[in-house]
Amino acid sequence: MINTSQNIQNALKQYFGFDKFKGNQEAIINSVLEGKDTFVIMPTGGGKSLCYQLPALMLEGTAIVISPLIALMKNQVDLVRAYSQSDHVAHVLNSSLSKTQIKEVRNDIVEKKTKLLYVAPETLTKQENIEFFRNVDISFIAVDEAHCISEWGHDFRPEYRRIKIMIDEISDKMPVIALTATATPKVRSDIVKNLNMENHNVFISSFNRDNLYYEVRPKGKKETVMRQIIQFIKKHSGKSGIIYVQSRKGTEEIAKMLMVNDIKALAYHAGLDAKTRNKVQDDFLMENVDVIVATIAFGMGIDKPDIRFVIHYDIPKSIENYYQETGRAGRDGLEGYCVAFYSYKDIHRLEKFLRDKPVAEREMTMQLMNEMIAYSETSSCRRRFLLHYFGEEFDCARNGLCDNCKYPAKKILQVQDEMQNALKSVQALNENHLIKDLVDFVIGKKTKVMADFQYNQLDLFGCGKHYDEHFWNSVFRQALLNNLLLKDIESYGLLKVTDKGHEFIESPEPFEIALNHDFEAEAAQEADDYQTNATSSALDPLLLEMLKDLRREIAHQKGVPPFVIFQDPSLEEMATRYPTTTEDMANIIGVSKGKATRYGRKFRKLIESYVEENDIIRPEDFVVKSVVNKSGKKVAIIQSVDRKIPLEDIATSNQLSMEDLYHEMYMIVSSGTKLNLDYYLSDHVDEYSAEEIEEYFKEAETDSIDDAYKALKSEDITIDEIHLMRIKFLSDYGN
Ligand code: ADP
Ligand code: MG
Repeated sequence: MINTSQNIQNALKQYFGFDKFKGNQEAIINSVLEGKDTFVIMPTGGGKSLCYQLPALMLEGTAIVISPLIALMKNQVDLVRAYSQSDHVAHVLNSSLSKTQIKEVRNDIVEKKTKLLYVAPETLTKQENIEFFRNVDISFIAVDEAHCISEWGHDFRPEYRRIKIMIDEISDKMPVIALTATATPKVRSDIVKNLNMENHNVFISSFNRDNLYYEVRPKGKKETVMRQIIQFIKKHSGKSGIIYVQSRKGTEEIAKMLMVNDIKALAYHAGLDAKTRNKVQDDFLMENVDVIVATIAFGMGIDKPDIRFVIHYDIPKSIENYYQETGRAGRDGLEGYCVAFYSYKDIHRLEKFLRDKPVAEREMTMQLMNEMIAYSETSSCRRRFLLHYFGEEFDCARNGLCDNCKYPAKKILQVQDEMQNALKSVQALNENHLIKDLVDFVIGKKTKVMADFQYNQLDLFGCGKHYDEHFWNSVFRQALLNNLLLKDIESYGLLKVTDKGHEFIESPEPFEIALNHDFEAEAAQEADDYQTNATSSALDPLLLEMLKDLRREIAHQKGVPPFVIFQDPSLEEMATRYPTTTEDMANIIGVSKGKATRYGRKFRKLIESYVEENDIIRPEDFVVKSVVNKSGKKVAIIQSVDRKIPLEDIATSNQLSMEDLYHEMYMIVSSGTKLNLDYYLSDHVDEYSAEEIEEYFKEAETDSIDDAYKALKSEDITIDEIHLMRIKFLSDYGN
């Protein structure tokens, strides 16, 4: 058969029902049909599979497709079979098959019924398989997800390194097509070297996904982030999305939070059994659920074209990961929002995990992570940054398709002298300190470290005091990213000056920085905005004062401290959400149904008349409900106390420390549920101490344990006693 363009076009239509090729698929397919080694770099969703599937269907013999994940293979085989008349056309050959099944697969290959055979790299290492392949007609070999060859990819598989040896054993003239969505120059050269592809054709597609909107948000408190996420999803209600979370536990917690807030969500992670995982995938594909909260285990081989948003609750470890994961949004070419939450604290946490890793791995991971930090903090076009990372230049026309282009803000600064001072300071402090100390040093902050080491005597101390901490953080991070400084993870992140840094000190050059995002300040601002933004909800200071007055009054009448009635956070939320029914009231943090009924009435009345008098439009937006209220742990604790079980045993059976158990109990009683601990107290709290503590709390301004401990220190009273008595006190007086 002659492979004219018409033939290929017809085959496309015949086998897949598509009318035209995407991107450079046709050229790639031609290259494979001609038996050339072919290297394809194409972003996720670009249509890589078709580049080997179509030639496999057109050529004589069977094409072997090497793919890293068994789950992914099955999905692919199902897709190919769906286009075909028979199941023989595509098979999987891996360790999951029975002897009989293996025999059937081999028969189909021998009888030339099979066009595509998906194997794991392990399959190729089995000598009996190599033997078999040597004696049948293999058309070519496709190495999918070829970045698995490189340690610099995000998914290194050692077995991938040995593929080439196996291929050569099958035949020394076997054409190979390698495909990946990872385009960094380093990964590319690893693949070419390892597969020994000398005279190969390379096809690089643009990585620009121009329908995706990139945004990075400061990651503040958990509640604030959750609130933002829930609001975001409600705005895109009914649409499909993925939320990526680092930990398995995190996925479940967040999925629960979403469900409580009436969002159809499910968790997905590698700790779930295969059946559950399949069900979650199916539910997502069938749109029984809208949102999947997943670790990175989710998404490989998931081909849902209309995923409208990808949210990173935790920042990924590399740009490759980030690009791949966000790439799952908007595969159909329509809108896709990519929102990542970033906090430098998360990076610290990741760094800690690295400490015990071998040096080489640690350095590599750090370097990948530094790029991710730079991406997050950059104040220039994010798309341009991403594409530059993948070796592609992009002329940003400020099209508003990332947050930085849409809301350009920061100005560029010349920092040649400051950079020089920063590097000199690292030397002055004997290359023995973290960024934090160095920033303190240049701005001249009189900390304990400065005094202990007498750094405040040095000339450079305070040399940068005309700039603030944020500015200097940016300078030091830029120094790291530009390899003027090096962060030694082994010694807990101490900064050292590199050779390049020494050169800079000797002969400094102009150095520009765009002041990075100040994520700490922005997170705080975010929280503020939330309070003052009329469309969400504003804390009403006047109402808050009135509520506090009322609380004082009631407390006075009952002869109890105010915090027994309602705690401050409860009043603040009332002054934000204006609850006027018992139900609304019970939705306020720290307010149980019981407490809402008992004390709530007067507060509701007050709020009601306040709302009326001031023509206040109550916020219509949803209340983010917390899962905590429903926590099974609390119920278990209440039941155990009813059965008079010793607290130590309750702690053990609920996997809590005593401290945690006290806290749980404190939460229970302060939201208005009684806990009678008398059975336990009699043996564990000294009679006189009990009296002392009770007297103290009656008069106290706050129910802080620390304050109580300080006030009662002379009385020979233990922290445990205070914890226990506080619970009893709140239970007795508050309920
Ligand atoms: P990749 O492996 O590059 O991430 P896939 O091979 O999974 O991407 O293809 C992504 C999607 O694009 C699939 O839904 C596939 O059916 C579709 N696709 C591929 N080629 C074409 C084409 N020529 N016309 C229309 N859709 C295509
Ligand atoms: Mg693919």
